[in-house]
Parts: sequence; structure tokens; C-alpha cells
Amino acid sequence: MKHVALSRLGRRSEPPAISWLMEVALSRPQMISLAAGFTDNETLPVTDARELVDEVLKSRKNGRPSLQYGMPAGDPRLRTLTARDCRLKDGAPAENKAYSADRMIITNGSQQMLYMVTEALCDEGDIVLVEDPTYFVYLSILQSRGVRGRGVRLAEDGIELEHLAAVLERLKKSGEIRRVKFLYLVSYYQNPTSVTTSFAKKAGALKLLKQYERAAGHPIYLLEDAAYRELRFRGADEKSALAVKGHANRVIYAGTYSKPFATGLRVGFGILPEPVYTAAIRIKGNHDFGTSNLPQQLVAHAIGSGRYERHLTELQRRYAHKARVMEAAMKRYFPAEAGWWVPRGGLYIWARLPKTMRSGMKSKLFQTAIGRDILYVPGELCYVDDPARRKPDHEMRLSFGGGTEANIQAGIERLGSVLRKMFKAAKR
Ligand code: PMP
Repeated sequence: MKHVALSRLGRRSEPPAISWLMEVALSRPQMISLAAGFTDNETLPVTDARELVDEVLKSRKNGRPSLQYGMPAGDPRLRTLTARDCRLKDGAPAENKAYSADRMIITNGSQQMLYMVTEALCDEGDIVLVEDPTYFVYLSILQSRGVRGRGVRLAEDGIELEHLAAVLERLKKSGEIRRVKFLYLVSYYQNPTSVTTSFAKKAGALKLLKQYERAAGHPIYLLEDAAYRELRFRGADEKSALAVKGHANRVIYAGTYSKPFATGLRVGFGILPEPVYTAAIRIKGNHDFGTSNLPQQLVAHAIGSGRYERHLTELQRRYAHKARVMEAAMKRYFPAEAGWWVPRGGLYIWARLPKTMRSGMKSKLFQTAIGRDILYVPGELCYVDDPARRKPDHEMRLSFGGGTEANIQAGIERLGSVLRKMFKAAKR
């Protein structure tokens, strides 16, 4: 046979890096993985979920809708509760239309939301601006859909606005600004760096994007991925980009109940402006004509009964503790050459090594670490292909989410000893 029958998308789709990392971890049971983005296993709300199932299915009459098909936009009660929660977090008044339940879609995890927005806005060859580094699974979506990415440098309080301006200007000069559809920001306790974008920077980014709309010939959106917003354990919450006055019609907000409640339920959501909302609803109709009803009902009841809030408070305490355990171990076992930002929420610490110390999949460091049964996410995976720079290859994402305290400590001790040996050897 001369050709495969796969579509361009089918042919382009590569095995996700994360499945390879998971395979390695599974094939070596003694392996300590600091790579997986799993949430804390011990606090998963098993008892709460059992009670919630009982509550939802208590009577035939009330139980039936959760076992029936629903609406593509999702359960109306959950949409209302979620929209209200987003509004209250931002301190916005009830009449603020940006947080209307009519702009809300409940999705199968926020991952589906990210996918649908990309489908709704991007053709092959279009450009999405991303943080440098960013959430690597999102990079796979772009890559498989033939969408190009361009990186915007990241500081401790979010993207560098001067660099965003420079990237936009360069794209305008090259005539490619017409292909730019949106800026994707993982704005709270970012995966992979744990950086939070300040509200001022969100406002600044929206202003800049607006300035280039005339040259682009169409709106340029901000896709705010707030997947980790609720996992805050230090400092105050930042308002979302929806709260930037006069710009809500350019903001697409993606959130999730995965991280703050149960990853296994995969209930996510999005708030979208028109015409993206209508396009996304139609796309959702084609994907699955609506997120499974039972998990949506469980989440709605968890919120209504106060269980959600209680569980979240416990989770925040738990992650604060695990982050402290990881950081203390890093201080103790990592060589002085390594640096990191102290996380204020989320699941990750992003460790930086001197640029001469490679950390990528093919590096001696990564291979030695695997040999010692320790796994991390190589930083290079989190950088988009961008002709304007070489991919940095001296960082690693370390997750304190899934492992036990003992695992985190042992993993960091082992990784620290590999690092110290490598540095000693490099100095000789
Ligand atoms: N965004 C980011 C930044 C994530 O890290 C993840 C999960 N790892 C998601 C979105 C998707 O999560 P979910 O589909 O479970 O809501």
C-alpha cells in the first residue's frame, strides 16, 4: 500500500511525552516519580463521593436526570454555581455580565475546554502565543493540529510584557500577525514553574493584544487557564482577566474541579465570549453532546452541601505541607548551583541548573537519574518550537502532588546525590 489512511492530524499526533514518562515509572516499580502531575492520592474524597452518590440517587425522581443525557452546555445548576464562584472570587457585583452562567460551558476536564477553544479559533498554520515555558500537554494539542506557537518570556510575576510587545511587533513586521489568534496563559501557580501572573500583567497583556487587532484584522483573545487557582496555600488570590475593565469580551477563562476536588471526575468548565461561545457549544455537540451528567451532579452537590469547600481547605493545608517537605529536602540535598522559585500554590517546583548542565531526555543527568530510579520532567519538554531562540535545556519540573512525604524526601535525596556527582565531575 502506498499511503496510510490517516489524516494530517492523525499522522502528526505523536505519543505524548507524559505517556512515555508514565511507562518508565510503571515498568520500574522501585522508581520514584517526581514527574507525574497527579494530585494527592491519600486525600481523594472517597467518603464524600460515596455520600454524594447516595444523595444524588436517593430518590428515583431526583436520580434520573443524572443518569440521562444532558445539555451540551452542561447542568444549569452547576453552571450557575460555578459562574457565581468565579464572580465572587474576583469580587465582581452580581450584575457583571462577564460572569453570566449563559457564557459558561461545563466540559470533560478543562483539557477538553483547551482543545475546543483551539479547534474553534485555529486553522493549520495559525499562531498561538504561549508562556516560555508552558504546560507541555497543551503544546501537543498545538503540534498535532499544525498550529504554531511563539514563546513569551516568563518572570516571577508572569510574562514579560516588553517581550510580548517585541514578539507582537516582530509578527506584525513579518506579516504573520494575521495568523495570531490568542495568548495562552496558565495564570495561577503555573504548570510547570508555579509562577502566578499578576492582575496588572493580565491587564497589560490584554491592552497590548488589543493594539495589534487592527493589524491582525480580527480579535486576539487571551485564553486564561486557571487550572491551579484553587490550590493556593500562601499569599492572596489574584483576580482573573475577566475582571479587567472593558476587556471581558476578549477573555476565555478555563477552570476545573479536577485539582481542587477529584481528578477522576474530570469536570472542567469555561467562560467564553461570543462568537467563540457558540462555536465551542457546536463543537462540544460534535464531541460528546454534553459532559457526563453524574459527575456534574456530584460536583454540584459537593458545592451545595459544603463538602467541596471543606475538602479544599484540607487539600490546601496538605499541599502547603508537601511543598515545604520538598523544598526543605532540596535545600538540604541539592547542590548550591541549583535555584528555584518558592511555590505559593499548585503542585510543582521548577528547578534551574546552570545553563551548562543539560537536563533533557538525552542528557547524562536524565539517564543517570533513571538509572538511579528517579524521574523528573525535563524542562525542555515545556518549551514550544520557536525559531527565535534555542530551547533551554537546564531545568526540571518536580512535582510534590502525588507522592507521599517519604517518597518526596527520598526522591529529592537521590536526585540531589546524582546532581552533586555530576557537578563534581563537571568541575574536574
Ligand atoms: N491545564 C493545566 C495547566 C493542567 O496542568 C491540566 C492538568 N494537568 C489541565 C489544564 C487539565 O486538567 P483537567 O482536564 O483535569 O481539568
